[in-house]
Amino acid sequence: MKILISADMEGATGVTWPADVLPGTPQWERCRSMFTSDVNAAVLGFFDGGADEVLVNEAHWTMRNLLLEQLDERAEMLTGRHKSLSMIEGVQHGDVDGIAFIGYHAGAGMEGVLAHTYLANQITGVWVDGVRASEGLLNSHVVAEYGVPVVLVTGDDLACEDALGYAPGALKVAVKDHVSRYAAVCRTPARTAADIRSAAKDAAALAVRHEPVAAGPHTVEVEFDAEHLSMAATVVPGVRRVAERKVAYTSDTMYEGIRTFKAVTTIASAAVEEQYG
Ligand SMILES: [Zn+2]
Repeated sequence: MKILISADMEGATGVTWPADVLPGTPQWERCRSMFTSDVNAAVLGFFDGGADEVLVNEAHWTMRNLLLEQLDERAEMLTGRHKSLSMIEGVQHGDVDGIAFIGYHAGAGMEGVLAHTYLANQITGVWVDGVRASEGLLNSHVVAEYGVPVVLVTGDDLACEDALGYAPGALKVAVKDHVSRYAAVCRTPARTAADIRSAAKDAAALAVRHEPVAAGPHTVEVEFDAEHLSMAATVVPGVRRVAERKVAYTSDTMYEGIRTFKAVTTIASAAVEEQYG
């Protein structure tokens, strides 16, 4: 049994503030070990539950956050950027039986600690076939096309609530409770590690590949906080402007859909000016 862990940072233990997840800051340095603790707890739990292989895919920002030297030696880690499936790279090779979303968070326009979808602020909403989407929801559509179930989700309590929508069968561990976008009631790393390890052990039993889901075509809408960003995004083939601050595109599969999304966010973020946005 092979488990893929997609490891994002905003939903990690103790993380509540932009500097906590901003590479290079002293706060980020401190939070890296709590983030690594969450991921390693999942690694240990999956091996407890019978996994033969666990691959950790870094999914936050520069994708260089986890402390490799603190991971259980049975795990392997894919670190660094530029991967065709980004946060869920590795799922496309046909050998993954289950995926865990560790350190996930609510989406743009939702309540939740450090809630956003890809871009920190410039995206105010994403919808897939009319349903408001978090990164978890977007990624869950893609992994379903490979027949891979989402078996475990960790993050704040609202990330877990969000996951009820896209992965109702997955186990969830809330490592902190939302108070505001930048505040949470946090539990200690020792306590959350115990919770995550025990949930991952049980979640291993859910890691059974199913028939690939072909639910496409899907229509994705992306809303920005400024109209020039939607204009900038229309250089991506197939992307059309549907409102002043909103673009939309349709993809036959979410494999294509997530890659177009990545192109849209990359182009839009390059169009953000320092003062006016
Ligand atoms: Zn994220």
